[in-house]
Amino acid sequence: MAYLDHAATTPVRPEAVAAWLGAPSGNAASLHSTGRAARRVLEEARESLAEQLSCDAGDVIFTSGGTMADNLAVRGIHMARHTADRRRDTVVVSAVEHHAVLDTAAALADGGRARVRVLPVDHVGRVRLVEAEALLADEGARITVLSVMSANNEVGTVQPIAELAALAQTQGVPLHVDAVQSVGWWGAPPAPGAAISVSGHKFGAPAGIGALVLPPTIPCHPVVYGGGQERRIHSGTLNVAGAAAMAAALQASRGSTLASAEPGLSVVDLRHELVVAIRDAAPEARVVTSPDALPGIVSVMFDGCEADALLMLLDAAGVECSTGSACTAGIPQPSHVLEAMGATAAQARSALRFSLGWTSSRADIAAVAKALPEAVARARRASAGARRAS
Ligand code: PLP
Repeated sequence: MAYLDHAATTPVRPEAVAAWLGAPSGNAASLHSTGRAARRVLEEARESLAEQLSCDAGDVIFTSGGTMADNLAVRGIHMARHTADRRRDTVVVSAVEHHAVLDTAAALADGGRARVRVLPVDHVGRVRLVEAEALLADEGARITVLSVMSANNEVGTVQPIAELAALAQTQGVPLHVDAVQSVGWWGAPPAPGAAISVSGHKFGAPAGIGALVLPPTIPCHPVVYGGGQERRIHSGTLNVAGAAAMAAALQASRGSTLASAEPGLSVVDLRHELVVAIRDAAPEARVVTSPDALPGIVSVMFDGCEADALLMLLDAAGVECSTGSACTAGIPQPSHVLEAMGATAAQARSALRFSLGWTSSRADIAAVAKALPEAVARARRASAGARRAS
C-alpha cells in the first residue's frame, strides 16, 4: 500500500516506540517508588517538550490529543474570562478551523454561553488580516478568546500567526493556536504568550497523547473534572508512556526536519514530484494547495468526481489518501474549508487530500501516478451515471 495520509496520522517513529517501551508502568500520582519513577519520566517528557516548543515546562498540560487540547482552550478560556466579566461574551474563530475548535465554539453558542464571530478567509484559505484587525478593534473588549490554527489540515494553508498574535496582544485578547498540523515540521508557531494545541500522532507518537501549552497569564477553567492532575485545569491519570513517546517523536521529527524516506529528497521535493505526477495523470485536476503551504499536503479537486468514490477506487488500487479532513470523512458533507475558500459544494465534494511524511518515498508517487487515470475515469463515469439517474 502507498500511504499518503500522514496528515491524518503519521506512522509511529522508532524513537517513540523505544521511549514508550522504556516508560515505567506506574501511576505518576502514586507516592511509592514505581509512581515516583513514572513521575520522573513524565516530568522529563514535559521538560523536553517545553524546550522544543520554547515555553516553560509548567506551561505544558498533557491531554489525550489535539481534540481535547482544542476543547480545553476554547471552552476553558472562554468560560474563565466570561465568568470573570460577563461583558466578555464573544469567541472568535476562523472559518477554516478544525471541527474540534468550530464545534466547541458552536456548542458554547447553542448553550447560550457565547456569541461566536467567524473570521473569513481568502481564496487560498488565509485569514484576512484587515478584517481580523477591524473585528478586534471594534469588539476587543467583548472577546474572550481568538482561535486560529497555524496551518490547515485539509489544504495546508499557513496562517499569519505572528501578525494575529500582535493584533490580539494590542487588544488584550488571549490567542489560541491549533498547531496540531505544523508543530512536527516547524516547532512552536510564532506567537509568544499564546495557548497552543499539540497532538502526538501527527508527528510520530502513538494516538492518545497531546498537550495544551497554556501560559499562566491565560485563565482557563477545566472542561473535564476529576483528580486535577494537571494544574487543576485538566484531570485524568497521566499517560506517562505516551508523554515520553510524544517528546521523543517531536525530537526525532524536529531533528530530521522535512526528511523523507527517499535519500537526499525532502518532503517538499517529494510533494513537488507528486503535484507534477497528478497533473500528468489527471490534467484537468485542480491543485488547491499553494507551494508555501505545510510541507506534506496536496489538496486536489477532481471536477465531476465524488471524492468518496475516488478514494475507494484509489484504495482498491493500493493508494491510501483522504477526502478533506479525515475527521469529517464518512459524513457526506462538502469540506467547510474549501467552501470558505469559495469552492462550490460540488467542487468541495470532489477534493482529495494526499499527505506525505517521514516514511514517504518515490514509490508512493509512482503508485499515485499509476492508479489515478483509471480511478478518475471510473469515478467520473459513476458520478455521471448517478446524475442521470437522479
Ligand atoms: N486540529 C487539527 C488541525 C487537526 O488536523 C486534528 C486532527 O486531524 C485535530 C485538531 C484533532 O487532533 P486529534 O486527532 O489528536 O484529536
